[in-house]
Amino acid sequence: MEFRDSESEAAFRGRVRAFLDAEFPTEFSTRLVEWGLFNGVGGPPVPGFMEFLKGWTAKLNAQGWGAPAWPKEHGGGGLSVKEQFILSEEFAWRRAPRSGGIGHGWAGPTIMVYGTEEQRSKLLPRIISGEDVWCQLFSEPGAGSDLASLQTRAIRDGDDYVVNGQKIWTSGAHRADMGILIARTNPDAPKHRGISYFLVDMKTPGITVRPLVNMLNSHEFNEVYFEDVRIPASTLLGEENRGWYLATTTLDFERSGIATSVAHQLIAQDLVAFARESAHGRAAMATRPSLKHELADRAIEARVESLICYRIISMQDRGEIPNREASIAKLYSSELDVRLATTAMHLAGSHALLMARDHAESMGGRFGRFYLHSTTSPIGGGTSEVQRNIIAMRGLGMPRG
Ligand SMILES: Cc1cc2nc3c(=O)[nH]c(=O)nc-3n(C[C@H](O)[C@H](O)[C@H](O)COP(=O)(O)OP(=O)(O)OC[C@H]3O[C@@H](n4cnc5c(N)ncnc54)[C@H](O)[C@@H]3O)c2cc1C
Repeated sequence: MEFRDSESEAAFRGRVRAFLDAEFPTEFSTRLVEWGLFNGVGGPPVPGFMEFLKGWTAKLNAQGWGAPAWPKEHGGGGLSVKEQFILSEEFAWRRAPRSGGIGHGWAGPTIMVYGTEEQRSKLLPRIISGEDVWCQLFSEPGAGSDLASLQTRAIRDGDDYVVNGQKIWTSGAHRADMGILIARTNPDAPKHRGISYFLVDMKTPGITVRPLVNMLNSHEFNEVYFEDVRIPASTLLGEENRGWYLATTTLDFERSGIATSVAHQLIAQDLVAFARESAHGRAAMATRPSLKHELADRAIEARVESLICYRIISMQDRGEIPNREASIAKLYSSELDVRLATTAMHLAGSHALLMARDHAESMGGRFGRFYLHSTTSPIGGGTSEVQRNIIAMRGLGMPRG
């Protein structure tokens, strides 16, 4: 794949830049709104940002960029793989937020592939408009990496299924309108073959969402309990007992992001600027000269990550579905997250302990928060060990361990 822009791609890039120049205030891109892709990683709240966000989705939708990868027939932008790449790249460098999350990235595409006409026409427009926020009800206390061991049951009863069981680590369930749920519909079948995939209204009676507060004192995760929850049979996505295959499609969508590599390059730049420009950064560099090499390594690694992403994109451009390549990208990216956070700690020294958002020497608490947050990267979306297993088996042809 040619990564230099063709004439039409350069024109598209110009259009994206012009849109951002006109619509995205510079103070939100030059002042650090977010670090990495995670809301709330640190920094003082930028005045006006939350109000600004309220009208942003509508502006993106007006350009067809609310769901740029989705086909036009489903209300998306119908952009080519390369145009999506350009859009992601330009937005990420500007630190401009995009519509996203489970609905746009995972539920929507899986519904497009496997949904009935009714499911598509009812659910997809509500994802794009932002009316429905989705969560992913996959992991259970005894089923994370080995997801196919899940025990939540869905038993057919007339026109309904009755669901009982518990999910855990469900990000954003407390804000979600809808959830993608996988549950066991045939306990007698081999474990991968007795699972079905449902599209569940989170307000259905019998669903209880309980908060799990993380070590950043932030409520992102939840436990979700299902007690005799009756969901209509029409919420089944695809065929009964074929849900495992749909779930792995969902996970494949989950593993093909690009914006993280730009976020990592930005963090590396921010760290270098801190080392050069702040009194504390300069002092840290003077007492620990090896930090120079560490920072250089991180900057190079962030660039290497983007090359790995180019490979994924070039496969998608050829119509191929990245598999082990997506695991390589996920592994490299989450391990780099941890290395960047560790380098940030070395630079910040004891100031990293200061988590208050108004503390300049700790970059508004970013150092400490980023470090704590980075511990989740090698776990969420499939652990690093599991990615290594995939690379070993599907990439190197090694036997299952
Ligand atoms: C930030 C974040 C957000 C999340 N959001 C969601 C969400 O929205 N919805 C959802 O359903 N889940 C979510 N999860 C859960 C996540 O998918 C699981 O935590 C993950 O799949 C690991 O499962 P587990 O926690 O049960 O750990 P386990 O699978 O029990 O793993 C424990 C340890 O054993 C290792 N291990 C397990 N199996 C193997 C193996 N075969 N070979 C080598 N090592 C192995 C693992 O790598 C890990 O180190 C989220 C997790 C995080 C961190």
